Amino acid sequence: MEIKVVRDILDVNNSIAEENRKFFSAKGVFVLNLMSSPGSGKTATLEKTLVRINNKIPAAVIVGDICTTNDAERLLKTSTPVVQINTDNFGGECHLAAHVIRKAADDLDLDSIKLLIIENIGNLVCPAEFDIGEDMRGVVLSVTEGEDKPLKYPLMFRVCDFALLNKIDLLPYLDFDKDKAIDNIHAVHPEMPVFEISASKGLGFDDWIEWLCTMVENKFTD
Ligand code: MG
Ligand code: ZN
Repeated sequence: MEIKVVRDILDVNNSIAEENRKFFSAKGVFVLNLMSSPGSGKTATLEKTLVRINNKIPAAVIVGDICTTNDAERLLKTSTPVVQINTDNFGGECHLAAHVIRKAADDLDLDSIKLLIIENIGNLVCPAEFDIGEDMRGVVLSVTEGEDKPLKYPLMFRVCDFALLNKIDLLPYLDFDKDKAIDNIHAVHPEMPVFEISASKGLGFDDWIEWLCTMVENKFTD
């Protein structure tokens, strides 16, 4: 019985996600769903990304947290339109669902943007199961986490289209085996692009942003 309930919730979510995808495509908006565990640096990564991307692609952000508007306040400083979702108002859910994204999008001027980045709630488990109508999914893994995270949370790494390996400036101070971490990512998702960055030091952003811009352009040229 319980399994059926869960399946029904996912079925409903998936159909709303499909509607979202059509809705965003019709508006000419590319949607990126960025996920990770708490503290891996999603917001810091977006701060650096938005500053660099603003003159190339007009963007907006929907940021999800259970509580607080701290991340939205940080991202607003990049002069990007931001909508904060607090799932506390939706029962404190630990992931963003498709209907929540559709509602949040009403607060954005979609005609004036080409890229919508969704910072999902810090959690490597259920955000991977909830399609929200995105075009692309990314996961941030920081070197202060274990190399075996991809093996422990394989679904997240399987559903994502790229990974950002963050905080690489800390590698000299840690036992983290970077090559092993990348091997583990590729064990669950062969050939997934992995970009090595440091959001706090602003390292590695050129390659990742060039790739992101190409993905956005490709959607609207073919
Ligand atoms: Mg954050
Ligand atoms: Zn959840």
